[in-house]
Amino acid sequence: MRKAHEMRMVRTGKSGLEEWVCPTCGRRLMLRWPPHYEKVVAEPGDEEAGHVVRSAAPVTVAPDAGACESRRLRETGIGPAIPR
Ligand SMILES: [Zn+2]
Repeated sequence: MRKAHEMRMVRTGKSGLEEWVCPTCGRRLMLRWPPHYEKVVAEPGDEEAGHVVRSAAPVTVAPDAGACESRRLRETGIGPAIPR
């Protein structure tokens, strides 16, 4: 079973790209959320782990309890859901 690492956002760049870091393995990437999804891996870290990013930004489109779920994104994009 794949390890699940939860990533943390460290800052937002002026271009709108968010910088995320994995405190477990040191993976570092620049991320832009859909619909203009973009990902740049700056530091690969543990490629075997499943990395999860969770947006800390307020969601304006659907301000109900399920909103943060829709903003959650499995960073690898493929494979089964990662258990929490
Ligand atoms: Zn990691």
